[in-house]
Amino acid sequence: MSAEEHNFEAETGKVLNIVINSLYSNKDIFLRELISNASDACDKRRYKSLTDKSFSSSIDFNINLVVDPKAKTLKISDNGIGMSKDELISSLGTIAKSGTKAFLEGITKQKNKKDNLSLIGQFGVGFYSAFMVSDKVEVVSKGIGSKQSFHWESDGQSSFKVSETNREIEGTEITLHIKKTEKDYLETFRIENIVKKYSDHIPYPVKLIEEGKENDLKSLNSASALWMRNKKDIKQEQYEEFYNHLGGIGKPWKIIHNTTEGLISFTNLLFIPEMKPFDLFNPDRKTSVKLYTNRVFITDECENLLPSYLRFIKGVVDSEDIDLNVSREMMQSNTALNKISKALVNKILSELRKECEKNREGYEKFFNEFGAAFKEGIYEDFDRRKSLLDISLFKSTNDEKYTSLNEYISRMKEDQNDIYYISGESIEQVIKSPQIEGFKSRGLEVLFMVDPVDEFWLPSFNEYEGKGFKSVTKGNADLSKFEPKEDKENKKKKPANKKEIETLISEMKSHLGEKVKDIKSSQMLTDSPVCLTADEAEMDIHLERLMRQHKRLDKESKKILEINDSHDLIKSLAKIVSKSSDKSIVNDVSHLLLDQARIVEGELPLDTKGFTEKLSSIITRSLSS
Ligand code: ADP
Repeated sequence: MSAEEHNFEAETGKVLNIVINSLYSNKDIFLRELISNASDACDKRRYKSLTDKSFSSSIDFNINLVVDPKAKTLKISDNGIGMSKDELISSLGTIAKSGTKAFLEGITKQKNKKDNLSLIGQFGVGFYSAFMVSDKVEVVSKGIGSKQSFHWESDGQSSFKVSETNREIEGTEITLHIKKTEKDYLETFRIENIVKKYSDHIPYPVKLIEEGKENDLKSLNSASALWMRNKKDIKQEQYEEFYNHLGGIGKPWKIIHNTTEGLISFTNLLFIPEMKPFDLFNPDRKTSVKLYTNRVFITDECENLLPSYLRFIKGVVDSEDIDLNVSREMMQSNTALNKISKALVNKILSELRKECEKNREGYEKFFNEFGAAFKEGIYEDFDRRKSLLDISLFKSTNDEKYTSLNEYISRMKEDQNDIYYISGESIEQVIKSPQIEGFKSRGLEVLFMVDPVDEFWLPSFNEYEGKGFKSVTKGNADLSKFEPKEDKENKKKKPANKKEIETLISEMKSHLGEKVKDIKSSQMLTDSPVCLTADEAEMDIHLERLMRQHKRLDKESKKILEINDSHDLIKSLAKIVSKSSDKSIVNDVSHLLLDQARIVEGELPLDTKGFTEKLSSIITRSLSS
């Protein structure tokens, strides 16, 4: 029978190369990955046989490992769901997750390769790890319901071959032709140790056979569902191995393992990871907790088990109250599922609240990794938005440390009614914003809202614990009731004469005209001469920029130019306007000041050519005077 030759997709080929050549140090995990796939295949077939009459049969699922030192092969076989020809081509010829290559390239550049290895599982390159130890990999598989089996073969270079085969098979058999340098993997005790170490939690018996020898076919693993075992009997390592089997990266930060009895009974074993996966912000925002009923896997795509803002959580939920036949469409309206979901979210949030209160350092690390996703809930989960906000953390002008809103409130000044915040792209950017100068000088704390999601929940939240939210780049924050701190710097800075400033403002308005909404003397500035703010009725400056970037808005609104009447530049300009007859420079400087305020906001000058001309002309004047 002739074989069809297929090239790996370009991205797959590159990933293979990285996996084989760079992520080298702990090759043992190839076996964990292949056993994990075999177990998933058994899960799927079991579900099918219980829910689809045409496939019903009672099967003893098992995963067999056969070492043949003479032939130098290690075989991994399962009687699971199998793969059709098309599935062999698509599942073993492409990398499912987008962005895998870029991410893997990134981590291979990092120094600590050991840590990076534990990341393999999450990228769907699990199967390819077989090439770390094999010169050639053969797969024989028969898709469930089909009579024809197929043979897949590759040396992991650039292509693979697929052909029909007459082999009688149930499920899948993977044959690894072990590399000369890796012949340890042909020793039974080595294989036994790896299985015990990484795959004990696999719920199907994993048996080891040595070709040509009498074999004692004992199962190497416990072969019982880990989540159903008594907590006391589970070691931390077993939890961690199971977490890796679920595609969790690194180690879990927090394990939530409970059984709830009542009107609805269920067991949950959930993991909150230590670090975020590379695809946390993929547009699909998919959750990945697996749903079981009485230990039978139903699906890992149950959309309403957990809300999207908790998509970083890995784990399983098992409930005998869920009907095996629950279809995708029915899941939305399934009462039992909705009750479980509600209880799960409450449980997770109460665990997080405990961490926030009792393990602040650990919680801050968690929030640093997942806060941006978690805060989506403030916007999306209306009923819980207050409790989500209670345990949300923000950095602020208070030494850029994390603070909760309640902690912020406890530090508020006596007459302060609002929670001040500034939004922007990053802390590095907002911390330099001129708009916060006056707040800092008065000892008023400003929160940094630097995740895109902040712009979405903020407008929907008018108050928190009786305090309003006020953007420092929008509208008029009345700072007159707060005295600036009496430091040397502030003392030196005497404001310009009021009259002179009024004249200057009207002169600047005549030059800038329609380019600004208004010009006014600012309370917010101490060091910078100018800044921009949005009118109270307009959108916040940063939100408007986000909307323009996402093409949801095509026009920029006019801003208010605020001037610092204690700044030497403004004072000198005011003097020129009041006293000198030659005011030609005022036009140039007014435009330059407006452009300067725009540049600080991350915007281009209104007219770049005009800007450079005016700047050159001023520099020339100052050099020649
Ligand atoms: P992942 O398991 O993360 O999806 P893999 O590269 O390990 O990524 O496997 C790719 C796909 O190949 C699997 O999702 C599955 O559809 C299929 N597959 C792998 N091994 C088996 C197997 N033993 N039986 C059936 N399907 C399998």
